[in-house]
Order: sequence, then structure tokens, then C-alpha cells
Amino acid sequence: MTRRTFAAALTAAPALAQQAAQSSTPQQAPADPNGVAPGMRGGTIAATPPFQPPIEFIRAGVPLKARPFPMTQVRLLPSIFHDAQDWNQGYMSRLPADKLLYNFRVNAGLPAGSTKGFEGGGQGNWERPADGTRATELRGHFTGHFLSASAQLWAGVGDKDAKAKADEMVAELAKCQDKLGGGYLSAFPTEWFDRLDKRERVWAPFYTIHKIMAGMFDMYSIAGNQQALQVLEGMAGWADSWTASKSEEHMQDILNTEFGGMAEVLYNLSAATNNDRWAKAGDRFTKKVFLNPLAMHRDELRGLHTNTHIPQVIAAARRYEISGDTRFRDAADFFFYTVSTGRTYVTGGTSNGEGWLTQPGYLAHELKLSPATAECCCSYNMLKLARRLYSWDPDPRYFDYCERTLLNHRIGTVQPKTGHTQYYLSLTPGAWRTWGSEDHSFWCCTGSGVEEYSKLNDSIYWQDEAGLFVNLFVPSELNWSEKGFKLRQETKFPEQQSTALVVTADRPVQLAVRLRIPGWLQSAPAVKFNGRQLDATAAPGSYLTLSRTWKTGDRIEMELPMHLHTEYMPDDHKTQAFLYGPLVLAGDLGNAGLTDRMIDGLEGPSPYRLQMQIPVFKAAGADLASWIKPADQPLTFRTTGQQKDVALSPLNTVTANRYSVYWQVS
Ligand SMILES: [Zn+2]
Repeated sequence: MTRRTFAAALTAAPALAQQAAQSSTPQQAPADPNGVAPGMRGGTIAATPPFQPPIEFIRAGVPLKARPFPMTQVRLLPSIFHDAQDWNQGYMSRLPADKLLYNFRVNAGLPAGSTKGFEGGGQGNWERPADGTRATELRGHFTGHFLSASAQLWAGVGDKDAKAKADEMVAELAKCQDKLGGGYLSAFPTEWFDRLDKRERVWAPFYTIHKIMAGMFDMYSIAGNQQALQVLEGMAGWADSWTASKSEEHMQDILNTEFGGMAEVLYNLSAATNNDRWAKAGDRFTKKVFLNPLAMHRDELRGLHTNTHIPQVIAAARRYEISGDTRFRDAADFFFYTVSTGRTYVTGGTSNGEGWLTQPGYLAHELKLSPATAECCCSYNMLKLARRLYSWDPDPRYFDYCERTLLNHRIGTVQPKTGHTQYYLSLTPGAWRTWGSEDHSFWCCTGSGVEEYSKLNDSIYWQDEAGLFVNLFVPSELNWSEKGFKLRQETKFPEQQSTALVVTADRPVQLAVRLRIPGWLQSAPAVKFNGRQLDATAAPGSYLTLSRTWKTGDRIEMELPMHLHTEYMPDDHKTQAFLYGPLVLAGDLGNAGLTDRMIDGLEGPSPYRLQMQIPVFKAAGADLASWIKPADQPLTFRTTGQQKDVALSPLNTVTANRYSVYWQVS
């Protein structure tokens, strides 16, 4: 049983997880000591469970206050983000379409081509072949992720080969769908849905179907493939019929088995086609027992499987956007608030052993319960949610969260050169990174990984009526073709503690450029316009607005001075992590005892091999700079005056050795 299946069992039996988490944990959550909470709207707090009555869909679009520029209009320039994009693009280009289609063809009874799939018998691990003896129940999920990622590679990089391969896959999958009757499309038989219906043991069939539907939606909406829309409508029709035949009570029981973002893709389809049928089908995936407490601002997440539930909140956010139903907004708002403040490690990651094992605010306690910290899918999905919430209310603090998570959790969890990715980013002191293999892993996180690293140009720049927002300091070029306006961001951030933005305009253009002033700055930064220091600036955690008529050659420069600071665990102030600006620092603990077998192809570091002596620190003063000194390379430091001193560098650069992020500091 993999960790994930174990976790899936926990989802079905929350009592089990609660038992695992049973401890001296008090019920009252400690306050967030670091004050990093992104904004939460003062939504209405319902007194009675708001999702109890039957849900009725009434279409009413909510106007968004900001939207990201399409990925086709933003290109990455050389940087750590560009490297991650390259490595992932290389990995995706090495996976042949025939092998990704193999299980679908076998399931549809179609010739599976000259290939037998990866390793001569089908893809490995979670994509083991349909005709093998050890077939897995999640097969097909990665193919869906791959379609989404291919659409993004086409939009974000202009990768025509990625699009051609994905177009071919859509056409071949359409043939499988035809053979299966025109609606259902999967790499496994409908019999698994019979088991779901009878509440017999089955992994997560709707989870997998969602990935394929989302892949089709992205191929249509991002890459313009019309056939993908037809395939998706066929699948949605099947999902609508299947769910419509269940009583509400039975359907709510079915929702105890992981179902991914089924509602989200149906809402997306409903919005794209202006067809209420799909939204009504999406509503059947509203898990009331989960959403009710959230809409009432109650954190009852303890014992739940994390990545089963974040996609449901993304769906709730989407439901609010297409209906204006504030119950869904309130649930999404509160969820983000409670997870990002009380359940998120310093890296931006959440979950432990794939679940939330304690009350909010008990992270030091939770960290000890398992080394399988911070599943990568969870960060991927929390970033997606943060982007949605930001579009309702462009509060720059959402991007403090995104920047933190991108720099410390996502950059670094893709392996240099191979593009292989991680499952968990363990924060247990002494942990090391473990990497998926070329074709023997295909975990959920391999799937969300190819999606993440094919859209790193998304959300750097946003727009509204008045102009644009610069939200991330990533070397890149924005081409706002509608306005004949280009903005080139030139920086080596985070190595360089400043950024510069250079304008090219076909003709003078009036608009507001809003610069995010990150919350980790100590004071309002110096900003220059065309070489002259501006009198105006803005406080950390806000925007600096430059409204003017822009012309070619205009140049904005902003200083981003970093300082060393500490964040401590809410429930144990002696458990501390060190940061330099937005970068989480890790202590390099060497590679003694590490072998390739402990690193390659494993979901996470093995608990019994984790034990090692972790240095403890005595702070020489409240100011970290008094005992943590710069080392010879940029962004590197060294403790001084300790029994055992440690070299510190950004976590995202410690890819091969053991490390520690959290320390005991007295
Ligand atoms: Zn995952």
C-alpha cells in the first residue's frame, strides 16, 4: 500500500486519522505569531449550515477585479524559473504519445499500436498497464495532466511540437471514446464506478476522470482544440447521467471517495459554453459536510486528506464566480485563511502524511507525526486557489504567499536536467530530496508537476481597467499587444536585490503600473523612474502605483533589500526557521549515508534512516545578523559561535544533500 492509498483510506475514515493525531493537542489554536495572514474578506458568517438546503444553480457572473495576462503574452527570460520550465519541457518531450495512450486503447479494445507502453509492459507505478497483473486503479490520470501541461507549453513557450503531440492524443482519445459509446472515456472500465456506487473499495475513479476532463478543457480553452471540447462534452454528459441517477443522500456518501476537481471542470465547461446543464451536474459534487463548517468560519479540517479537499475549494471559488452565490465565496475565503495561517509551513507547503493531522496552529506538533510533509500537489492547488481569490480582491499579500510558495516549494522540487519531480518536500530535520523516475513513478505530483512547470509565466503580470500589476519578480517580457505596450523585467532576483522594468511602446500609452511591494521588506523601498529617485513610495504589503503616459525607453527600478529574519512555529517558539527576504534557508547537513537507492524513485525519505544528530543553536541576540554571517557565495550564510556551526543556503538550491529548515533555538 503506498502512502497515498493509506491516506485515501484516511479520507474515508477520518476517525482513523484523528486517532493517529491523538495527543496532548489542546483544542484552542494558538494565534499566528508571524502575522503572515493574507487578507480575508469580512464575509457573512452563517449561523446555520448554509449548504443544508438543496442547491440551486442560477447563473450570474461576478465581475473580476483583476485577471492574469494570457500565457501567450508573457515569456520567461533566463532565470531559475526558466531553467525549471526547460527541464520540464525536456521531460515532457521524451514521453511518447503512444505510451501515454496505451492504457486507453486497451480499455477501449482498440489496437494499442506497435508499443506495449513503457518498459515493454506499460507505464510504471501509478500508470501500470491495463493488461498487466498489477494494474493500478489510477491509470490514465497522468495523460490528463499531460494534456493540460502541453496546452500550457504551447501558450507559454510557443512549443509547437508539444501542441502537435497533444492534438494527436486528443484525436486518438476521441477514437477510444467513440468505441466506448461516445461519452465515457477512461483507461479503466466503468465497473469501477459500479464499485464506487456500491461503496465497495475503489481508489478514486472520479479523481482520474477529472484529470482527463481538465486536460480536454485546457486543450480547448488554452490551445484552441475544438475536438477536445467535443470529447469533454461527451464525458460531461456521461458524468451528468451517472450522478443524476443517484439520490442526494447517496451522492453525498459517494463524495467521501476522492473526486478531484470534478465540479471545477464542469463549472468551467458551463461558463465556456453558457450551458447550465454542466453547472447543475457540477453542483452534485458539492460535499456539504466539508463546505458547511468552512462557510461558518470553522476549521474542521483535522483528519481530512489534504489534496482531496483543496480542489473542492477551487471548485467552490469557481462556483461563486459564475453564480454570485456568496456561500461558496465564504467557504473559499475562510479555507484559504485558515490553511495559509494555521496549517502552512514556512515554505508555503501544507499537509503531513497527506492529511491535516491536528487543529490549526499546531505545526511543530504535526511535523513530528510523519516525514511526509507538504505534498507537492497541495502547493500546486493552493497556488491555484490563491490566484482565484486575488482576482476577486487584488490584495498583494496573496502574492507574498505565492512568491513564498513558488520560490521555496516549487523551485527546487524539479530535478535539474532530468525534469523529474518530488512527491513530498519533507521538512523533517535531516531529510533529503527524493525524485520520481522517468517512467516508473507517475504519482499525482508527477502530474501536477508537469502542469506547474509549464505555467511559470502565469500570474507574473495581471491587468484591470486601469492598467497592470507587477506581482512577481521573475525575469520576463510582457507583450500587451492590444495596447502596443511591452514591459521587460530585467533582474537576477532573488540573487539580485532589485528589479528593473523597461517599456517599449508603439505609441505613448496612458496606464497605471502597480508594483507589488512585498511584505518581507522592512520599509518602503527606493524606486527610480528614468534614473531619478521618486519621492513617492509605498509600504510593504501594498502597491506602489505609477500612473502616467508611457513611452519607449521608460525605466522603473526598484530596490528589494533582503534581511535575515526568523519565523517560529505557532505552538513552539523555539522551533524556528530562518529566512533571507522571501527565501527559506536550509542548513546543509552533508550526504553521509545517502545512496542512489535512497533518492531515486521514492516518494519520500525513509523514516528509519532519517535519524541523525541535528545541531541546536543558541541565539547570540535577537538580531540574527549578530550570529548568522554572510558566506562567500551570494545568498549563503554560516552560523557562528555554535557548538556545531552550519552552512545555510536557500532551500531551493539544496537538491542533493540532507538538510534542515527547522531548528531548535534557545
Ligand atoms: Zn500529489
